Amino acid sequence: MTRLWNDPAEFADEMIDGFVAANGRYVRRVTGGVVRSTVSPAGQVAVVVGGGSGHYPAFGGLVGPGLAHGAAMGNLFASPSTQQVHAVAKAADLGGGVFFSYGNYAGDVLNFDAAQERLRAEGVEAATVTVTDDVMSAPLAEKHKRRGIAGDLTVFRAAAAAAESGYDLAGVTAVAAKANERTRSFGVAFTGCQLPGADTPLFTVPKGRMAIGLGIHGEPGIDETDIPTADELAALLVSRLLEERPEGADGRVIPILNGLGSLKYEEMFVVYRRIHQLLEDAGLEVIDPHVGEFCTSFDMAGTSLTLYWLDDELERLWEHPVDTPAYRRGAVTAQQQTTAVDAAAEAVVIPESDEASHAVAQTVLAVVETIVDTIDENVDELGRLDSVAGDGDHGIGMQRGSHAALTAARSAVDQGAGARTTLEWAADGWSDKAGGTSGALWGVILTKIAEKLGDTGAPTAADVAAGVAAGAQGVTDYGKAEVGDKTLVDALVPFTATLTQSVNAGASLPDAWASAADAATRAARLTADLLPRMGRARTHGEHAIGTPDPGAISLALIATAIGTVLAEKEN
Ligand code: ADP
Ligand code: MG
Repeated sequence: MTRLWNDPAEFADEMIDGFVAANGRYVRRVTGGVVRSTVSPAGQVAVVVGGGSGHYPAFGGLVGPGLAHGAAMGNLFASPSTQQVHAVAKAADLGGGVFFSYGNYAGDVLNFDAAQERLRAEGVEAATVTVTDDVMSAPLAEKHKRRGIAGDLTVFRAAAAAAESGYDLAGVTAVAAKANERTRSFGVAFTGCQLPGADTPLFTVPKGRMAIGLGIHGEPGIDETDIPTADELAALLVSRLLEERPEGADGRVIPILNGLGSLKYEEMFVVYRRIHQLLEDAGLEVIDPHVGEFCTSFDMAGTSLTLYWLDDELERLWEHPVDTPAYRRGAVTAQQQTTAVDAAAEAVVIPESDEASHAVAQTVLAVVETIVDTIDENVDELGRLDSVAGDGDHGIGMQRGSHAALTAARSAVDQGAGARTTLEWAADGWSDKAGGTSGALWGVILTKIAEKLGDTGAPTAADVAAGVAAGAQGVTDYGKAEVGDKTLVDALVPFTATLTQSVNAGASLPDAWASAADAATRAARLTADLLPRMGRARTHGEHAIGTPDPGAISLALIATAIGTVLAEKEN
């Protein structure tokens, strides 16, 4: 339970402000998160980490000499936006390229990948290793699909120590990939967590029971038992992890017993006492054990054990000293920066536009207004659908995104922008504030449509249909979901197919749009029968049978509402 906040919507931002105020000798605030406030040598690879907030010390608490150069910090449990990741990377860049590492979650992957693409387009070298340590989230054969939990620490440390030892970007990437390959974690939980301002916990574990493999955002566990004794829990954690000793591991191992937010250190020490014995009994050489909080899940009561299997190189890199707000090892001397700028604060230019396009911009504004109304009306239902197999934030994410889009679109229209610029600003505002997978994808959809609207003249129905088709293509390029995976793609593909077909057959835009919205609505309902294969819901597919996909439903609702606006505009 969280007791203290001002406005829940401002919680993450105010948390970051306070964190920076308290840790000025380590970090400074930039757009999107924090970067080191200490001097790093020019030409060094910059290690940029990040993810949603609510996991302290991940991610801001791990910025400083010996660890990350910067952290993109999203909203509570929501991925930072592409813009945030990009801005932090620009501020952290030292000229040696940017190395990204973060836990493997769909929303984070989308936004970090898009930021990486932007950096490369600007001539900044960038590479990524996602952390996939949670053995309960996918079988070993599909390790790349596993999510990242407390194993973040080992991968981040290996990468950062390599960067500071002079490895180039390819070298840092290789060593981080090896560290990830040799990091395995397994977690259990006794309670859920309750976000600021929420009346109910985001998820719960029945009293007296223990959820096995429960995710750090409440993704359901794979099993549940009565709460065992401390020694029994130690045996469960160790035996499962020893089943997966990585190939080539010689027995040197670092155990990390991580608290998820409200488990007592004393309880963890009792558990660790037995873990240590069991590892030694198994003939392993236990090196530098860690017991504490390294990646939490707000106020969840639970713990995870990570085993990090060393070789000579990883052991040498582990000895590299670290000094960050939440994590220190060895002795570091660092110098404070004297001048610092926030690269993201750039001047705004409104492209030339004409009267015809101003009229279209008014329609764009009306469309965004109707999206806001539609989401506001359905926010609870969308959250409920997402809580069945996801993390329950689809309603609030769409709400944050659409409201930010409206603010941006109004500001563009007030400054005399044409249709393209108005919708582009809306898209940017949406993906920046929404967070999560759907926020990034809606940013892509709207940006692609905007490109076809132009800032001069009025688009034809065929232009709009082509824009929607490009948006659908962009969504599948970024998100990699196919029809049948139980995502918004299942509604978007029939939507765009019907729209294009009707327009080609000579229908007016409002008529074509209305039949496309019907097709999307039918397809969205049919997602109830599907098993999810993408995104957060994938891990716990069977829970979702019988419930439609929240992203497909919200897309169909929005498409239907826009249809009404287009019909009214024509009359
Ligand atoms: P998050 O999953 O980050 O919590 P949301 O809850 O806002 O984000 O959105 C969830 C929706 O995102 C899902 O219902 C699904 O429609 C959509 N989604 C998830 N992953 C993908 C993907 N790879 N491609 C397309 N849509 C996806
Ligand atoms: Mg969600």
